[in-house]
Amino acid sequence: MICLVVLLLFGAPGCGKGTQAQHLVHEQGALHLSTGELIRKEIAAGTPLGQKIKALVGAGALVPDELAAQLVKEHLSEFLKKGKVIILDGYPRTLKQAQELDALCAVLGQIPGLPPIKIRAIYLKTEDSVLMDRLQRRVACQSCKTIGSLKATGAFVCPSCGGTSFERRQDDTKEVIAARLKEYKEKTLPIVQVYTERKALWTVDGGQDENKVAAQIKEAVAQF
Ligand SMILES: [Zn+2]
Repeated sequence: MICLVVLLLFGAPGCGKGTQAQHLVHEQGALHLSTGELIRKEIAAGTPLGQKIKALVGAGALVPDELAAQLVKEHLSEFLKKGKVIILDGYPRTLKQAQELDALCAVLGQIPGLPPIKIRAIYLKTEDSVLMDRLQRRVACQSCKTIGSLKATGAFVCPSCGGTSFERRQDDTKEVIAARLKEYKEKTLPIVQVYTERKALWTVDGGQDENKVAAQIKEAVAQF
């Protein structure tokens, strides 16, 4: 039977989630529903929700989880009508949101003409030492701002414009990275546990070469 898949990608900062989402989009025709992207669009379009978010962000606050959830609710059904695999990026971030997603998919599954919806998760499990190394090497091209990676020698060649000058993000220090990894584990690992118990989660070693990871994700998707 044909099913629609809501695909969750879990993994700590530096695990390669963004890169792998692009592989899924370009090689497997998945659609990418990113809450960050939706938020930027709402702000640009000046909708009431966009104005609310802009005021919060302008005041230095983070976008609250509830607003991200609201955006997912508004947009998931249109994505489900357009594609077979929807990568949900930036949601769910809490156990409560994971429950909300279940409820939302149950409701959307009632829409006439829409095939049943499955929630599946891929966890890009990656050693802290690998994450730390990748994040510390991550820099931006000084001329075009494309994010790239320093070679082992410390040299940089921009993947987009070929420039060799780079700048670091100020918050990419060892201490800040370690704090981000700790926060990630506290918040996300309990959600990973939920999908593991449901046997709806596939674990892939995110420390491997990018193309190897992509191939293993493809195998996992084939088993959904
Ligand atoms: Zn560049």
